[in-house]
Amino acid sequence: MSDKKNILILAGDGIGPEAMAQVNRVIDWFNANGKTSFEITEGLVGGASYDAHGEPLTEDTLNAAKAADAVLLGAVGGPKWDDLPFDKKPERGLLGLRKELGLFANLRPAVVFDALAEASTLKIEVVSGLDIMIVRELTGGIYFGEPRGIEELPNGERKGVNTLTYTTSEIERIARVAFDLAMKRGKRLCSVDKANVLECTILWRETVEAVHADYPQVELSHMYVDNASMQLVRNPKQFDVIVTTNMFGDIISDTAAMLTGSLGMLPSASLGAPLADGRIPGMYEPVHGSAPDIAGQNIANPLATLLSFSMMLRYSFDDMDGADLLDTAITRVLEMGLRTGDIMQDGKTLVSTSEMGDAVLEELEGLAG
Ligand code: NAD
Repeated sequence: MSDKKNILILAGDGIGPEAMAQVNRVIDWFNANGKTSFEITEGLVGGASYDAHGEPLTEDTLNAAKAADAVLLGAVGGPKWDDLPFDKKPERGLLGLRKELGLFANLRPAVVFDALAEASTLKIEVVSGLDIMIVRELTGGIYFGEPRGIEELPNGERKGVNTLTYTTSEIERIARVAFDLAMKRGKRLCSVDKANVLECTILWRETVEAVHADYPQVELSHMYVDNASMQLVRNPKQFDVIVTTNMFGDIISDTAAMLTGSLGMLPSASLGAPLADGRIPGMYEPVHGSAPDIAGQNIANPLATLLSFSMMLRYSFDDMDGADLLDTAITRVLEMGLRTGDIMQDGKTLVSTSEMGDAVLEELEGLAG
C-alpha cells in the first residue's frame, strides 16, 4: 500500500489499552517493513473519555472517527462507571460511534484454530477447522422498530410492544455485504429468517433472492432461525457465510462464538455504507469486554484485538496478504504452545500479554524473512 491511511485507535478501558499496546507494536512492524503506510491517531472513549471530559464520546473523538479510514476499538466499561447516569455510561460511547458512523453490518467470524479445538465444549471433529462468518444487520429490525413501549390497557392489564420492520433498501444493503463476503470466501450464503411466521422476514427472503441475481456464482440457501441455531451446534461446518436480522444475529452470533470456546480469540467488524468520497466506514473491535477482573496485570489475551486489526487489513484496506501474514503468525504462536491464562491447556506455556505480543512479532519477522 503506498498512500497513507489513517487509523483511529480508541483503546478504551480495562484490558483495552494493554491489548491495544500489542496491536500498536504490530502496526509499527507493518509500517517499518513497508507492508503498510498507516498513520495512527489515538483518542479516548468510554470510561477513559468520561474521566477526562465528562462524556463517554466527545465531538472531537466522533469527528476523528468520521475522518479516519478505519477505527480500531479496545473495550469500554468497568465497575468504576457503573453508577453513572445512562447517557454517561461508557457503553453509550460505543453505541454512539456505531450510530453516528452508520455501521449497519456487523461481521462476526467464528474460527477454530486447530491448536485450540479442544477448548470448545463440542467434540473436536464437529468444530475442528471451523471457519464461518455471521453477518448481522445492526441498525434496524425489532430493536429499533416503532411503535414500541409498555402501555396500560383499559382492563388494567399492561401490554409490551416491539415492532419488527425492515425496508427493502435495508435488506438489500446488508444482503450485498454478505454476498460480497461470500464471493471472497467459499461462495456459499445462508440467509436466516422466520419466513414461516413473520411477514417482515418473507420480505427479507424475497429481497435476498432478488439481490442474488447479481451474484450468480454464490450458492444461496435459506433457513429458519430455529433450525439454524440447531444446525450451528449439530454441524456448524455446513455454513460459510450467514446473513440475518438484528435480533436473530445477536443470538446466533453468540452461539457461533462459543463454538470456538474462547472469548479472548474473537474479533469483529462493523461496516457502514460507502461515503461520497468512496470510503466505507469501518470499526473493528474484539467481542470481549474490558475484563476489569484482570485489567492492569499484563495477563489478558491480546489476540482478539490483533485479529480485529487483521480484519481491518482485510475488509477496510483489501490487504489480504497483510491479513494472511498476521493470521499465520498468530496460528504459529498457538501451534508453538504459547497461551495466555484464558486459553491455557495442560502442557502448554503460560505467557503474559506482552510476551504474546513478542511472540507474534517474532513470527512476523520469521515469515517476512
Ligand atoms: P468481559 O468480556 O469483559 O469478561 C468476561 C470474562 O472473560 C472475564 O472473566 C474476563 O476476565 C474474561 N476475558 C475477557 N476478555 C479476555 C481476554 N482478552 N483475555 C483474558 N480473559 C478475558 O465481560 P463482562 O465481565 O461481562 O464485562 C466487563 C465490562 O466490559 C462491563 O463493564 C461491560 O459492560 C463491558 N463490556 C464491553 C464490551 C465492549 O467494549 N465491546 C463488550 C462486553 C462487555
